[in-house]
Amino acid sequence: MTPLRIWYVAAQRLCNLDCPYCVSVGSWSKSRRYDWEAPADRDAFAEIVSWIGARPFEVSLRLGSLGEPFASPFFLQQAAWLTRRPNVRFVELLSNAALLQRRLPTMESTANLGKLSLWLTWHRTQMSMEKFIAAAEFAQRAYGCFVVVNALLFSSGDIDDLQRLSDAADQAGLRFNLDLGYDPYAPSRTSSATEPTRTVPAIRDHGSATQVIDAVSAAGGDPELTRVTLLSLKSPKGRPCRSGHDYLFIDIHGNAYRCSRYSTLDRDCYGNVLDPDFDLRLRPQTWAPCDAAGSCCNKEDFLNLKAAADLYQRDVPSLGWTDA
Ligand code: SF4
Ligand code: SF4
Repeated sequence: MTPLRIWYVAAQRLCNLDCPYCVSVGSWSKSRRYDWEAPADRDAFAEIVSWIGARPFEVSLRLGSLGEPFASPFFLQQAAWLTRRPNVRFVELLSNAALLQRRLPTMESTANLGKLSLWLTWHRTQMSMEKFIAAAEFAQRAYGCFVVVNALLFSSGDIDDLQRLSDAADQAGLRFNLDLGYDPYAPSRTSSATEPTRTVPAIRDHGSATQVIDAVSAAGGDPELTRVTLLSLKSPKGRPCRSGHDYLFIDIHGNAYRCSRYSTLDRDCYGNVLDPDFDLRLRPQTWAPCDAAGSCCNKEDFLNLKAAADLYQRDVPSLGWTDA
């Protein structure tokens, strides 16, 4: 059996930064004050982690949260435990990198850091590029983590900084990825096929999707990846997609879906992994048509589209790195 790729978003909320475009808003918001909104959230997290670590097959895991995982000792403790589970191929954390140099050494005795994958996003108004690159390099060099330096394009004013980051990553021997930033207040549940303009500020700023693709190229990003991003935002419906075959999304409550878009739409839930009678039944066929009208906006999800098959290699220890 091919390893099951799981994207699980836990209810951990504490974050040490305050990015103006943070998408953790509303009932799924990050917090400057508390790590878990309720003790039940933390308990559910521990139980879902146990469920993942007990699967009788290989799992590749992107362990997301609503905040900054390195701000949460309990979250890191559970992530460390997962890296030592024989069925877990890797644990990928999404981080702003600000606390890496302080917290990674504390995990050394409890984690297999060689199985830790770090998707590090630079938030340029919150942290200097030099400090960010130094933290990413430290994680890769000192602990052998699989590290991706990530950045977001919101407007034409970002391009100079993104080029500098791309160059700095290159010089430090770090992988570089550029994604489109999203408007956190764009409607998602009711979105239609015209949504990319509403969702992607860079389209509004540059004037057209074509110009955004050119801007991504100029900033060191991948135009093909950007094309697939825009396609999945606009018109995934009817397109063959392998989510639900060897890919699964688990929400903060433990509900399992084919992908996060199906979760937002609350469509075809497989059940809850915390239910003692839960029996995960994935689709044996690799491909099945998508039935969402639009707004497949998360990369973990849309890299499962057949249209993205040439971009994503399934054995890479990340649910977002394309190396295209
Ligand atoms: S680091 Fe991430 S979670 Fe924290 S405020 Fe910035 S975007 Fe939000
Ligand atoms: S294209 Fe996106 S929304 Fe549709 S099934 Fe695949 S991952 Fe889900």
